[in-house]
Amino acid sequence: MRKLASIQTVNAAEPIPNADAIEKIRVLGWWVVTKKGEFKPGDKVVYCEIDSLLPETADFEFLRPNCFKPARTDAAGAVVLPSGFRIKTIKLRGQVSQGICFPLNILPAGAPTDEDADVTDALGVCKWEPPQTGASGRARGSFPGFLPKTDETRVQVLEKVLERYQGVEFYLTEKLDGTSFTAFIREGEFGVCSRNMLLDTTDPMSTLVGVAKRLNLEERLRALGAARGFEVAVQGEIIGPGVQQNKYALKEVALRVFNVFDVSAYRFLDHADVLTAIAEMGLEAVPQLGTLVLSHGVDELVALSEGMSVLNAKAQREGIVLRPLREVDDHYLGRLSFKAINPKFLLKYDE
Ligand code: ATP
Ligand code: MN
Ligand code: MN
Repeated sequence: MRKLASIQTVNAAEPIPNADAIEKIRVLGWWVVTKKGEFKPGDKVVYCEIDSLLPETADFEFLRPNCFKPARTDAAGAVVLPSGFRIKTIKLRGQVSQGICFPLNILPAGAPTDEDADVTDALGVCKWEPPQTGASGRARGSFPGFLPKTDETRVQVLEKVLERYQGVEFYLTEKLDGTSFTAFIREGEFGVCSRNMLLDTTDPMSTLVGVAKRLNLEERLRALGAARGFEVAVQGEIIGPGVQQNKYALKEVALRVFNVFDVSAYRFLDHADVLTAIAEMGLEAVPQLGTLVLSHGVDELVALSEGMSVLNAKAQREGIVLRPLREVDDHYLGRLSFKAINPKFLLKYDE
């Protein structure tokens, strides 16, 4: 689970060229611009990641002019996201700043102060979500337990993990900014899911169900399953008109696959096999950006995330996703997969 607000120690403080009143400090793998001298290396702070929505309390009131977001309601008028102050990626004097730090005295009595403690709930912090565009459609139930949900960890919280993976070969794909899609066969039945829901495959208004039908996914999954001797699921990103502002300016809605899953064994196919399976099904993978042997830290991977999209050279790519090319024998970690988000994408699109 992503900790939006947690207790962290300041690792470093560095000047920003041509700025005397501010400096940058490092918390986890993030750089945060602060008033000079406000925090020193070794200080414990409350760190709130980007996408934190801070409540309208006195401690956070100073954020109102730049960060206030009104409550969001659904069609029936029910509050789906409270009002508050939204923390996002900003640039100050040429320096990207991600997140915000506070002294520990903003914590309510009794809140934990040990390193890495999660204080999201104690502070009443919520996750700000961009308004979703595009119709995922009517739900038939919650996301099935026999499938993993799609998700990617942010590289900035993996500094120590990266150290353990130095020398390991990774493959890179472009992270697409659309909406998550899963289709599966399970005990002979076909199903389609959005990020968090099992969808009603009779809904004519659902973009996701529409793509599944147009691509004949049910048949393709059955054929692959028959050839391999197990039931198959595919997971990918739906992009195109009506989805997340169609940043790639596509003419038609498309599916780009990033996972193929053996439902019978609850197992991800490995990379080479995924590409073969996608080709056999006649589907398209997310853009493949090659491989690297890890000798990188967080900042280097964030720098690598910068670039234009393979799908449209005029669009900043959202970022990259990295995964070990072959399964690494590491019992502590299981399957490693993470994202580095392009700061230029965040500065451009994140309102
Ligand atoms: P956070 O947890 O950081 O708040 P989030 O969980 O809401 O963010 P994203 O930042 O979109 O979601 O990151 C994960 C999603 O990225 C996956 O659910 C998947 O839909 C999408 N995605 C797009 N391109 C890829 C790709 N190439 N590989 C894997 N996932 C991808
Ligand atoms: Mn996530
Ligand atoms: Mn996304």
